[in-house]
Amino acid sequence: MISMLLLLTLAAFTGNLAGLLIASAVAWALFSFRRSKRTADRVYVLTDAQRAVLSKYAIHYQRLGQTDKEKFERIVAHFVHEKEWTGAGIAMEPEMKLMISACAAQLLLGYPDVVLTHFKRIVVYPRSYRSRPTGRMHQGEVRPQAGLILISWEDFLHGYAHTRDAHNVGLHEMAHALWFENSITNGEENFLQPERLARWMDHAEGEMARIRKGQSRLFREYAATNQAEFFAVAVEYFFEQPTLFHKELPELYAILCGMLQQDPDKVLLS
Ligand SMILES: [Zn+2]
Repeated sequence: MISMLLLLTLAAFTGNLAGLLIASAVAWALFSFRRSKRTADRVYVLTDAQRAVLSKYAIHYQRLGQTDKEKFERIVAHFVHEKEWTGAGIAMEPEMKLMISACAAQLLLGYPDVVLTHFKRIVVYPRSYRSRPTGRMHQGEVRPQAGLILISWEDFLHGYAHTRDAHNVGLHEMAHALWFENSITNGEENFLQPERLARWMDHAEGEMARIRKGQSRLFREYAATNQAEFFAVAVEYFFEQPTLFHKELPELYAILCGMLQQDPDKVLLS
């Protein structure tokens, strides 16, 4: 299992098609879903092999207690099974679905019933790609009009290979999707709570003004682009540098803990 994901990683980085194909064949043989039906809702259950991949590679999952692990697994299983996955120039391997779903679960752990319903399709590119709507090169993107999340696999892997640099395209794009999901009326909206969100945006405005003046206390310049980017960048710091974020921007950190219903600084310490 270890060598399989490493092989995939290596193949993704080097563009080694043979490696990707071998890993793919092994993966298809090993992975399958067991599914059960509970009342009206389908509950998907991860296989032991899938759980083993999370234990080995999903860093956030590794640090959780048993109850949170089970919540995390349910979200992963839902995403893997319910989202429509498309590889754009890359074979869509089971591990890719699993790891991208784990990234969503990391963000959504405090809201196990929120599954980004509006975003039905996840498209994965092998590396950064030229976006048709913007005409620019992207590592990832969210297109709410089309219910799409797009991710460059190479950049996704890079994000998880460097766990403390506050650059994680997977978390960044999932944060955008969460931000939109909160304001789309589909039965999943407003989970961020309007008052809490208003407080966040108020503090964010102040911090963005500081960043624009070159007086950022932590976040990189890009966070000052707009409220949506500020939130997405804050999420990257929240999970990759929680202690520093907590120390430098305690009020924003506390609001974000409330918004996401979790505290990664505490998870790291426990
Ligand atoms: Zn963004």
